[in-house]
Amino acid sequence: MTDARPTPAPAPAPALPASRSMCCRARAPSRAAACLRRLALTLAAVVLGTSVTAPAQAADPLPIADAHIHYSHDAWDVVPTAEVIGLMRKAGLRLALVSSSDDEGTQRLYQAAPALIVPSLRPYRSRGEISTWARDETVVRHLEERLARYRYAAIGEFHLYGADADLPVPRRLVQLARQHNLILHAHSDADAVERLFAQWPQARILWAHAGFERPEAVRAMLRRHPRLWADLAFRSEHGSGGKVDASWREAFVEFPDRFMVGTDTFTPERLYYIPEHAAWARAWLTDLPIDLAERIAWRNAQALVMPVWQANRAQAQETQPPAGSADAKAGATVASGATVSAGAASARASAIGCADPGAGGQRLTSARAELVFRTTPARIAVGQRFSVLGTVCPRQAGAVLEDLHIDATMPEHQHGMNYAPRIVRQGSGDFRADGLLMHMPGRWQLRFEPRIDGRPEPLLHELVLR
Ligand SMILES: [Zn+2]
Repeated sequence: MTDARPTPAPAPAPALPASRSMCCRARAPSRAAACLRRLALTLAAVVLGTSVTAPAQAADPLPIADAHIHYSHDAWDVVPTAEVIGLMRKAGLRLALVSSSDDEGTQRLYQAAPALIVPSLRPYRSRGEISTWARDETVVRHLEERLARYRYAAIGEFHLYGADADLPVPRRLVQLARQHNLILHAHSDADAVERLFAQWPQARILWAHAGFERPEAVRAMLRRHPRLWADLAFRSEHGSGGKVDASWREAFVEFPDRFMVGTDTFTPERLYYIPEHAAWARAWLTDLPIDLAERIAWRNAQALVMPVWQANRAQAQETQPPAGSADAKAGATVASGATVSAGAASARASAIGCADPGAGGQRLTSARAELVFRTTPARIAVGQRFSVLGTVCPRQAGAVLEDLHIDATMPEHQHGMNYAPRIVRQGSGDFRADGLLMHMPGRWQLRFEPRIDGRPEPLLHELVLR
């Protein structure tokens, strides 16, 4: 992952039931390998009898508020929304602070379980923006567009380090948080946290992963900033083997109201880990006095998040257009059936990033556009006609998709196809291209060239035909 994580793999090995292999669903080879390693660890733990589920308890299990959940675009196929909610219920979650890249995943979960999910707005539209967003001005438009449409309790989780916190885009993010009464969920070093407070002294900052700092450094920050809270997501050294580490215990006792737990589902497979994380947290929390355990388990998160969320949600009921109104449907109406050619009617699309392309679909991303597509037949064969069905989504609200060209070339041979595809636009950025044919084996580039606001925005998809 691109997240900067000083501790390479500190999460406790999940105690998975053998029937729920996380690996079988992983598609990317690297992910599958990581998954196999994790499964091996899990199996080793089971064989050695060291699995880390909570001890059987007579009373109801301690509720958990999970302050660090993501449900990003590449998770929707792997774990459907209803299954995520099921995992949260199985985990005994009382609330879940959710943020996703893009925000659509958060909205899906919120629609499915509005009493459980508390939405937080990430500045990311897709994976890979973690290290670029602070210098990407289109992020501001994305945030403004979502804030105009939905309500949130927080803004984040965002990744921000040192002096980058004072760049124009992060400054604008802080202003928006202030304007919309939002908690800042910052994956940051102490320096960036200081800079955020300097910009907005009344900010409420939830420090993701407690900054991956040692407990002494976390305490120093909490002492300095009464409006700083810390989640313990993706860390395990504070409570391994059902025991709380001595230094961390001192931190928890000194600041009983400021810590909370979280899973950090930064890959799709980690969603399956939500119940195991909750059980693991309950196990180490039993080593604390019950009052303190309850605060860290859920009361602190609830006390931080719910007043903000309730205030913002109440405002939403006053100001948001009802579902189905013209405003709610904005972006869904454009000329349909227009053949794309010179002079074709332009479409004003307000989409920021495309929806999930579904199983077998592809997603291409560039600075100004996203494009999702699938082919029929799904597998392209030499000498066989195929069609491409897809959607172009300009990434800036209000950007105009004027035109679309599709071609395929063989870079090594400097030639394209022998046929020109017929392209038909079918709706808001939707298109269908028929009559494509790749006439020889080798490396091909399928080239999509939407023209947006007068400039071409090429997107390439490579494939090798044998
Ligand atoms: Zn995270």
